[in-house]
Amino acid sequence: MSDRRLWLAEPCPTCGARSELRCQTSRYRGKPTRFLHAARGWRQRSCPSCKAQSGELCKTPTGRRAARPHTARLAPGRRELFDDDRVWEELERWEATAALVRFSGGAGSQGSIAAVTLEDAQKSVLARWGSGEGELPEALAAPVWGRYALFRGHPRTTGLLVWDAQKRQVLVAGERGGRNFEELLFASRQVYRPAVTPVPVITGAASRGSAARARREHVAGRRRWRGLALVRALRRSAPGGASPRRALLLQALPAGRLARAAKGPSSLPAAQPA
Ligand SMILES: [Zn+2]
Ligand SMILES: [Zn+2]
Repeated sequence: MSDRRLWLAEPCPTCGARSELRCQTSRYRGKPTRFLHAARGWRQRSCPSCKAQSGELCKTPTGRRAARPHTARLAPGRRELFDDDRVWEELERWEATAALVRFSGGAGSQGSIAAVTLEDAQKSVLARWGSGEGELPEALAAPVWGRYALFRGHPRTTGLLVWDAQKRQVLVAGERGGRNFEELLFASRQVYRPAVTPVPVITGAASRGSAARARREHVAGRRRWRGLALVRALRRSAPGGASPRRALLLQALPAGRLARAAKGPSSLPAAQPA
């Protein structure tokens, strides 16, 4: 099990991000990444080369402190669910259709995960974990740390991160500095583009290919909006309803939030917080 929040205590050996800051796609003028780089978690792993235990620094053959962690320690461990493909696989094994991660942070607080829950298609809770209770919940919470790092510079934020296993996308919604927000963090195996009108198939392999591509893009665009609609539907569930999803949401969000959200959906696209 590897707590990604602790990874932020280290600078990133891959992208050079300083401690407490988000990882970037490159050292210079990179864009923020979805997840912290695997190398950044070296201290939480034992070292395959020098056998240093989790938390310890690497050692030279003579037992002195090594100048830097051994290369083997920069790669994810065998049990680490490092990339999102492995997380989706694990959700499939659980037969979970959604994973919900309730979190908060900001306004001087470094952020914390309150609970991680798996649900099946009937919205029954399959599993529920607190912080530090296993690799799967840590992996499910990883996008929170990738997105917000330690919430430095963020106003008070309370949110629910949703892994939607059917649409293979990860969304976040909640309240930030007293205002509702929602954001698509990423969709796996499909690049989001605005909906493209399918072009008619003319003749020849090339145009058939481009028509198929346009159709796929169109579908990908529609999927994204369905996903956001799911988050909205979660919010709008009628007061007095007693579905587990609503119960979870009530726990996740501050009192009064659902009532405010019911006045109408917030405008889209969601604002990109700094
Ligand atoms: Zn990095
Ligand atoms: Zn080592």
